[in-house]
Amino acid sequence: MASSRPGVGRLIVVEGVDGAGKTTVARRLVDRLKQRGHDVHATREPTDSFRGDAIRRALDDPDHDPVSEALLFAADHAAHVAGLRQRLAENQLVVSDRYSTSWRVYQSITLADAWPDQADVDPATWLEDLVAPFELAPDRVLVLDLPVEQALARLDDRARETEKFERGRFLETVRERYQALTEQEGYTAVDATGSIEATVDTCLQAIDPVLEGEP
Ligand code: ADP
Ligand code: MG
Repeated sequence: MASSRPGVGRLIVVEGVDGAGKTTVARRLVDRLKQRGHDVHATREPTDSFRGDAIRRALDDPDHDPVSEALLFAADHAAHVAGLRQRLAENQLVVSDRYSTSWRVYQSITLADAWPDQADVDPATWLEDLVAPFELAPDRVLVLDLPVEQALARLDDRARETEKFERGRFLETVRERYQALTEQEGYTAVDATGSIEATVDTCLQAIDPVLEGEP
């Protein structure tokens, strides 16, 4: 995933399972990059917009439908990407807390459950094709990796044990998909088992080569 935009802005994406530390690490990363003098724009998916709000509402709805949810994610991403293209053209360094990488992983799993009889439709391919016409490839995808149990322990929620068990099983699959994508797509796995600062340092080292071409 080498940059195809020499001399212009860069897009860094922070990924990983729930509780991996993405939001915390992305914020620190932005602070550190600003301290170094970079013109940084912090963003996230779902975005801070009415489209992102629609997704958050859908995710809270116990009757939500995975197909419409995937389409909402795609709509939010399309608008996000349109704005980011502009920022990259203005030489900004963009750090995104989750991106299409996230929802394509998560939705491919929920859609596989929703479409058990449609063996001829691979959900991951369907999602890939959906975004392909407008997709904006990141310059670096940092996948914060750690055991799911450790990630869940970081999330101080009061879910019942059965919910935690279900979520843990789902997140095991999410982690496996991220690991497979890291191999296939050249994402960067970042050991996220240590302190926040140690993880941020590893992220900075991983993006250094990407920043070298910056004007
Ligand atoms: P995510 O955005 O991946 O779901 P968060 O950044 O919200 O994760 O982090 C979840 C919780 O874990 C937060 O309370 C945060 O302070 C804590 N946390 C994040 N990174 C670490 C770390 N490296 N070590 C210990 N706790 C962490
Ligand atoms: Mg977060």
